[in-house]
Amino acid sequence: MEYFLTEQQKTIKSLARRIAEERILPVRAALDEAEEFPWDIVKDLANADMFRVFLPEEYEGLGGGCLDLCLVVEELSRICSAVAVTYAASALGGLRLLEYGTEEQKRKYLPDIARGKRLAAFALTEATAGSDAGAIKTTANRVKGGYILNGTKQFITNGGEAEIYTVIALTNKGRGARGASAFLVEKDTPGFSFGRKEKKMGIRASSTRELVFEDCLVPEENMIGREGTGFIMTMRVLDCSRPGVGAQAVGLAQGALEAAVDYAQQRIQFEHPIISIQAIQHMLADMATQVEAARLLVYAAARTIDSGAKSFTEESAMAKVFASDTAMRVTTDAVQIFGGVGYMRDYPIEKMMRDAKITQIYEGTNQVLRNAIASELRKRRARRE
Ligand SMILES: Cc1cc2nc3c(=O)[nH]c(=O)nc-3n(C[C@H](O)[C@H](O)[C@H](O)COP(=O)(O)OP(=O)(O)OC[C@H]3O[C@@H](n4cnc5c(N)ncnc54)[C@H](O)[C@@H]3O)c2cc1C
Repeated sequence: MEYFLTEQQKTIKSLARRIAEERILPVRAALDEAEEFPWDIVKDLANADMFRVFLPEEYEGLGGGCLDLCLVVEELSRICSAVAVTYAASALGGLRLLEYGTEEQKRKYLPDIARGKRLAAFALTEATAGSDAGAIKTTANRVKGGYILNGTKQFITNGGEAEIYTVIALTNKGRGARGASAFLVEKDTPGFSFGRKEKKMGIRASSTRELVFEDCLVPEENMIGREGTGFIMTMRVLDCSRPGVGAQAVGLAQGALEAAVDYAQQRIQFEHPIISIQAIQHMLADMATQVEAARLLVYAAARTIDSGAKSFTEESAMAKVFASDTAMRVTTDAVQIFGGVGYMRDYPIEKMMRDAKITQIYEGTNQVLRNAIASELRKRRARRE
């Protein structure tokens, strides 16, 4: 399949693949088993300029965009989705700054994110506010010189490891989602600490943690965008980042497909490799077709974003939903092709199936995103009337 990538994008993709195969592959099972944060690999990615790919040159980036980021995420996820999400979550933490930060904020934080010197994270979810993100309770009360944050964020990727956090909090409680604002909070800010570290089904080497704010004073220059626009900006930033989850899903599905083809070629039953059985061939053919379709949708959504289009909610949601459903289906079928050993931890395929599930859940569950796609369809129909 021809993806019409630029020379720079091809170079980025092949470099990410090389790092994944040489540096991540030998340690992925151990990292998963120990639930150990992949700091050594983060450093390798930083040294290879991977954190720079989506940022503009004036902030020490390489001047690429969403597609460049997706290519790296896909290649990392082909080998290990936990590393891919660690990398992608830092980009998500930096995205809001890039889109809505002041020049001063961008100059202060983006070069460090580009160098991979400091990881970033994005904190919206709370115990009582998941899909219903407008129900957040964390408050940010205005005081002289800044805002005092109080509340607890749940399930934050890179929590405890990142040094720069974009946090959504209510500056006007009475206004619900319209009273939310975004803040940059640095790791060592007094009143900011880390709570429960989650023990997960998959992506176990990534960190998922609570953020706790207790009378945490954040200077007013750390507000991103205007007061009260936190929720609207969040929806836009998530539209930009969802193709990244799609890319994570595509990488996973690609890795599982390759492993299944290899295994089907090697495994002998009834005196022949199982790949000679038509039932297996058809499974592999369907898996390969679905992976290509998912990849094309993810790349198309990313290109729409990079084109400077005003709105891309639908494209972005479709890419994430389709690719993550594909990853779940393809990794499950790959386990089936491996038979009994596919269920054992000695082979990488059960990890891929465990890792795939989360892509249907975070950054908007697939049900919620189907609501968003349907809502766009209804709006389009109303415009035709
Ligand atoms: C590993 C991991 C990492 C995460 N990382 C981050 C992060 O870095 N930052 C962050 O802010 N958050 C993060 N999250 C949170 C994640 O985005 C939420 O878990 C997700 O949005 C779903 O919210 P919930 O878990 O509260 O599920 P709920 O909202 O309680 O949903 C439960 C079920 O109800 C369904 N449902 C709810 N409302 C509707 C509806 N209106 N229509 C149809 N179905 C509906 C859901 O689809 C789901 O099946 C992470 C979560 C996990 C598990």
